[in-house]
Amino acid sequence: MLEVSDLTVEYVTDKGPVAACTEVSFALRRGEILGVAGESGSGKSTLITALTRLQRPPALTTGGSIVYHPPGGSTVDLVSLDERRLRRLRWSELAIVLQSAMAALNPVMRLDAQFADVIYEHNPGIRRDAVADRIARLLRMVGIAPERARSYPHELSGGMRQRALIALALACDPELVVMDEPTTAVDVVMQRQILAQILRLQKELGFAVVFVTHDLSLLMELADRIAIMYAGRIVEIGPPQQLYSDPKHPYTQGLRDAFPPLHAPLSQLSGIPGSPPDLRNPPPGCAFHPRCARRMDVCDTALPVLQQISSQAERQVACLLHEPTNRQEAAQ
Ligand code: SF4
Repeated sequence: MLEVSDLTVEYVTDKGPVAACTEVSFALRRGEILGVAGESGSGKSTLITALTRLQRPPALTTGGSIVYHPPGGSTVDLVSLDERRLRRLRWSELAIVLQSAMAALNPVMRLDAQFADVIYEHNPGIRRDAVADRIARLLRMVGIAPERARSYPHELSGGMRQRALIALALACDPELVVMDEPTTAVDVVMQRQILAQILRLQKELGFAVVFVTHDLSLLMELADRIAIMYAGRIVEIGPPQQLYSDPKHPYTQGLRDAFPPLHAPLSQLSGIPGSPPDLRNPPPGCAFHPRCARRMDVCDTALPVLQQISSQAERQVACLLHEPTNRQEAAQ
C-alpha cells in the first residue's frame, strides 16, 4: 500500500542542512504492522512526520517519494501532493497516534466534541445521531464506556487518554495508522493492554501500522517486520524472530541486548558503548563505526548500502561485514 523510496529529510540550519533521514526506502503491505526502532536521534520520529507530511520548517523533505496506493483509487505521491488532496486523505486514509495524549488532545474540549470534529470534517452531511453512535462505538472498541465521552481529557487516566487517542485515529476507518511511541507515557501493565488492543483492532479492521519505538522488545510482540534505524538510515529490516535470534547488524544486536525480553527470563543486559552521532557532523563511512565492536578498516571510509541477504528473502542489512569481499577480514 505504501512505497517509500530514497526519502531524505533535512533540517535547514544556519550552518547548512542536517540530514535527519537519508535515503530511507521500504514498502508496506496492506494490513501489515511495520515496527521502526532506534535510539533517540536515529530519525524515526522525523520519518513518521515526513510520512504524514506533518513536518514543519526547518524540516524539509528534500528527496525521494512516498507512493500511496489507495484501495480502488489512483496512486499518489504524498511528497508532492497538494494540501487540499492531502487534507482529504488525512484521517480518512492516513491517521496518526502521537506520543503524548495530554498534548495531542485539546484540554478544553470534551472528548465527544473532539471526535465529532473529525467525523463531521470527513463525512459532510452525516446525521447527529449517527455521529453519536460512531463515537460510542469507537470508545467501546478501546474499552472506554461511552458515558465517558462527556469527559474532558484531564478527567481520564493516562491509559484512557492514550486509548481515546487511538480511537480518535480510527474515527474514519483509515488504511494506515502511524503510531509514534504511543505507550511511552503509560506504565507497563497499561502498555500491555494497549498493545493487545492495537493488535486486536488491527486484525478486526485490517489497517496497516507503522509503529515507532525505542523499545525493540515491544516490537517483538507486535510487528510483522521491524526496521532498525541508525543516524537517519535503515540499517536492517526483517521479520522479528529472525532479527532477534540472528541479528545481522551489530547495532541491531546491541539494541536487542539492551532490553529485557517480555516473555523470557531476564538475562544479562548490556548497553551500546558511546552515543549516537552528531548529525551535523556524522562520521565518514559507516556512521556506526565509532561504536562498533566488529569494525574493520574499510568501515571508516566505505558507506554500507542496505541490501538483501541472499539466503533470506525478507532480510536486508546495511553492514560491510556482509559484503563478500570483506567476509574474510571479518572472520579474522
Ligand atoms: Fe560495524 Fe563496519 Fe558493519 Fe558498520 S559496516 S556496523 S562499522 S562492521
